[in-house]
Amino acid sequence: MAQNFDVVVVGSGPAGSAAAVTAARLGLSVALLDRAAFPREKLCGGGVTGRAARHLAEVFGLGIEEDLFLTSRRVRFTAQGRPLAEVDDAPALHMTMRREFDARLHGLALEAGVEVFAPVKPGALDPARRRLDLADGRSLGFGVLIGADGINSHIARQLFGQSFDPATVAFALEVEAPPRDDDHVEIDLDAACWGYGWAFPKCESLTLGVGGLHRANPHLKRNLGHYLAQHGADGQLAGCKGQFLPAGDFRTRPGRGPVLLVGDAAGLVDPLTGEGIAHAILSGRLAAEAAGQALAAGDGGGAFGIYRAALAPLHGELRQARLLQRVVFGRLMHRPMLAVIAARPSMQHRMLRLLAGELDYADIRKGFFLRLARHGVATVAGRVTGRHNVAAGESA
Ligand SMILES: Cc1cc2nc3c(=O)[nH]c(=O)nc-3n(C[C@H](O)[C@H](O)[C@H](O)COP(=O)(O)OP(=O)(O)OC[C@H]3O[C@@H](n4cnc5c(N)ncnc54)[C@H](O)[C@@H]3O)c2cc1C
Repeated sequence: MAQNFDVVVVGSGPAGSAAAVTAARLGLSVALLDRAAFPREKLCGGGVTGRAARHLAEVFGLGIEEDLFLTSRRVRFTAQGRPLAEVDDAPALHMTMRREFDARLHGLALEAGVEVFAPVKPGALDPARRRLDLADGRSLGFGVLIGADGINSHIARQLFGQSFDPATVAFALEVEAPPRDDDHVEIDLDAACWGYGWAFPKCESLTLGVGGLHRANPHLKRNLGHYLAQHGADGQLAGCKGQFLPAGDFRTRPGRGPVLLVGDAAGLVDPLTGEGIAHAILSGRLAAEAAGQALAAGDGGGAFGIYRAALAPLHGELRQARLLQRVVFGRLMHRPMLAVIAARPSMQHRMLRLLAGELDYADIRKGFFLRLARHGVATVAGRVTGRHNVAAGESA
């Protein structure tokens, strides 16, 4: 006999907890499953942008003043360790440890009245019979099922045979180093191919990482080694951990009928910045709202159409991000791009406002190509006359 719920959510990261909280607030009965008991570790820079902060407040009622975050407005851009630019009045970035952050969101889902099954492993999914078997022999019936089980999504594999596309996926390596007396967020735009390096200060540590398109970075551990050496943290290399992230592609059809995919399971990571927490929370909320509407209309199978339509603006943004990713990271424009960032405070601020969710990709594209083209010409001219040092960003 299956235990029945209106909504079953598989995975309790930011996406799954957001879906569970939203569905419970709509008055639906909700089961929330995770293969881990909480608190659990999750490899992540833990950078919470202004965009993510807004979703946290809307969905969870969680404010940034909480003890979970270190907030900084100071950003340093570098290229293989060489300083490019410093910004002291950036939009706020909030850094958190995912172990505590995710446990808090999971706790808020519990408080909202969802029934938690964790640790538990999901087994066979039967969308037609609306039934999910669990590895321990139990079964759950559902009106709508939301797959929020991350990059290696079991639910995506059950639906489509694979959880992500190896050709487009990114990979990242990270270590936790002792905290420093410096609250600068650092972004190294040349630490990996089609990616970057980061130093994110936290309350009790400093997260150092490098990541980029997986197939373009066969020696990522070596890149991390260089990056750690620049920060005097060479000794940490042996303890590094790695994980894939879907920062190159997203599923244009994230689900089918009564089964919806959200967050990393749907590939919703920004290909340029690697940001995924905000999109995870938003997509979790949208999927739960779609479930609520479809169930109210008496047909959980209608949930996918409603969800896909609601996701269209985010898909549009990610398409634009992908276009810009090719320009920013592509071989031809990468060096001129570093020069533009070094020389143009307005460009630095626009990038940081994009990250904070104050601008969208359409805003960024306005004038971007013109500026880049001008600087490309200036760079070439500088090379000819020897008056432009691209790597150090010194415009003649
Ligand atoms: C190294 C690295 C650095 C990153 N840095 C940032 C950053 O600074 N800022 C940012 O915004 N994003 C960052 N990201 C991306 C961000 O971590 C993800 O986009 C985000 O965690 C996605 O949330 P999610 O809820 O979809 O998935 P997850 O957070 O991965 O949660 C999935 C949940 O599902 C559970 N689960 C997995 N498999 C199963 C299963 N078979 N059955 C049941 N449960 C299962 C897991 O235990 C987990 O609780 C980074 C990613 C990486 C890898």
